[in-house]
Amino acid sequence: MEKVTSFWERFVQFITFINLPIRKKFLLFEMGTFFWFCVIGIVSVGSLSFIHFRYAQIVHVNLPYIKALQTIHPELVVMDRTIALREEGTHCTQTLFALKTSLAHMKNAFSEALVSLQKQPSSGNIFEMVLTSLSKDDNENFNTLQEINKDIIALEELVLLGQKNSTGTSDEHSREFWKKIEMRVKKTHEKTVSFSKVVEERYHYYSTQVNNIIRISINSIAIVILLSVTLLMFFTRWLREAFSRPIESMIHQIHSIGTGEVDLSKKLKIKSKDEIGTLSKEFNKLVDTVYGVTVFKKVIEEDTSLETVYTRLGEVFEKEAGIKHYRIFDVNAAKGTMSVVYPYVSDESDFLSCNEEILHSCSLCRAQKTGHKVSSFEYEGVCKEFMKEEGKKHVCIPLIVSGHAGAVVQFVFEKVHSAEELEHINEKIFKAESYIKNSLSVIETKRLMNTLRESSLVDGLTGLYNRRFLQDHSNQIIASTLRRKKQISLLMCDMDYFKQVNDKFGHDVGDSVLKETSHILKKCVREADIVIRFGGEEFLILLIDTEVDYGMSVAEKIRLAVEEYSFKTTDGILKKTISMGVSDFPNDTDGFWQAIKFADVALYKAKEMGRNRCIRFSSDYWDQKANF
Ligand code: GH3
Ligand code: MG
Ligand code: MG
Repeated sequence: MEKVTSFWERFVQFITFINLPIRKKFLLFEMGTFFWFCVIGIVSVGSLSFIHFRYAQIVHVNLPYIKALQTIHPELVVMDRTIALREEGTHCTQTLFALKTSLAHMKNAFSEALVSLQKQPSSGNIFEMVLTSLSKDDNENFNTLQEINKDIIALEELVLLGQKNSTGTSDEHSREFWKKIEMRVKKTHEKTVSFSKVVEERYHYYSTQVNNIIRISINSIAIVILLSVTLLMFFTRWLREAFSRPIESMIHQIHSIGTGEVDLSKKLKIKSKDEIGTLSKEFNKLVDTVYGVTVFKKVIEEDTSLETVYTRLGEVFEKEAGIKHYRIFDVNAAKGTMSVVYPYVSDESDFLSCNEEILHSCSLCRAQKTGHKVSSFEYEGVCKEFMKEEGKKHVCIPLIVSGHAGAVVQFVFEKVHSAEELEHINEKIFKAESYIKNSLSVIETKRLMNTLRESSLVDGLTGLYNRRFLQDHSNQIIASTLRRKKQISLLMCDMDYFKQVNDKFGHDVGDSVLKETSHILKKCVREADIVIRFGGEEFLILLIDTEVDYGMSVAEKIRLAVEEYSFKTTDGILKKTISMGVSDFPNDTDGFWQAIKFADVALYKAKEMGRNRCIRFSSDYWDQKANF
């Protein structure tokens, strides 16, 4: 049953050439039109030729006999009458003369007919040639005509003989003579009458045939014209529908995209596998992408953080564009670094397809540096930092925000074996790019917001984080420390006798001493550690993931560095010292803010003990403070 359906479907497709390319559709349509014109032409030419043939048959084969008989027959009648009216028993010279004249007319008619029947074609017309041969081959009638002619010649001879013997013949002879003539005329007359009937019958047969041919031809031409016009109208309508319907739907969809009222449920119906079918398919895909991108943009606009936007971008690369291997790098222009922000990995270097150096110096990344798309499909080995693996290709797209590459997306693809595969990859990249392009404005806004937020968390004088930063990020810092089961050392630092600097050298010098101190503090700790300007000339340092007693050794290192440092003032070199209190979280207390308090208590103790020293917090100091 299924086989029959598929055969039937294939038959319909063949008849309606539904799946053929447009060029072939029109070619077939032209051929169909040409075919029907040919059919009309052949039927018309065939019919006219047949009519012409029959007509010529009448003219060339039948008409000479009719013309000859039209002369011979009346003359025989006249002869018959002339013989009947002659005077009995005499050799009537006038009668013989009249007979001779009639015979001469008949001979003349006969010779004309003979000439017509034996005439050679002068025009070279094929029909004439055929007809002449037909007229020659028409032996039976021709012989009959010849026989009549022979009779006429015999009669003429008899009449001549009669004229010769007109004198000196007896009545007996004369009666016999005229009887003989009368008999012969009668015989010839009978022959002529029966021959006339034959010729007439043949004439009727031919003319009936001509009539029939004309009737059949008119009917055939009418049927062919009707059939061809119906078919042409059907196919013209079918072609018009096949083109106009999907195009009208496309216009409608484009309009609804423009007005934002796109209805995805109303996809274009794909009926054929021709260019229109492909166009409808591609259009449906485009609408999907446009709709997907529009929704995507709406969602990321409402996302709170830049990290979430990057995560969503990564998700659409996988789900919508079907790209499995990719990385999103965020660029820190101020530091000149870049880092992988999605997919999240604990060790970035393990995950990279590029030289690790790009993370520390983002200008090594070609896409980041040039701000252009970098593709090894276009030029093999275009980026020196891409670590070549057998056949692997990369496409790196910079995300240009605020005039420079704020992020870079890298796609990595396996070896490509064919042009189709490459086209498929290009389609994926195109789709991913449309999502990237639409996310740029959102990424720019989020980055700007981050910068603004960061600037409110940074101290303007020293460039260190301020107390607000700690308030904002303390929960995050605590959570990650506890998750990793590590500890933080807290170093509360306060310059010794700082008031004197202001008093002696002025506020500006005091400011520059604070700036230089902040540099010393930053230099003495690792990149991951956090230095905060906690108050006027108070600094809090968070040493992340430390071991026991590590905090005290760093504090001592800082103390020494400050002590040894020479602050330059307009009045010469200035020497300063710093005191520090050290506590550990969560070793000393479960409360983070409590640990800060403990560090402060230890600092107080350091001041108390004479300054320029580092004191590790001890619960005794807390108890003393409580007692105090
Ligand atoms: P101590 O050894 O007890 O800490 O003595 P000290 O003089 O440093 O005393 P204290 O820590 O109480 O003094 C802090 C002074 O730091 C007060 C203020 O004049 C000065 N100060 C605070 N913030 C700034 C600042 O931004 N710029 C300048 N130039 N001075 C500041
Ligand atoms: Mg102070
Ligand atoms: Mg002080």
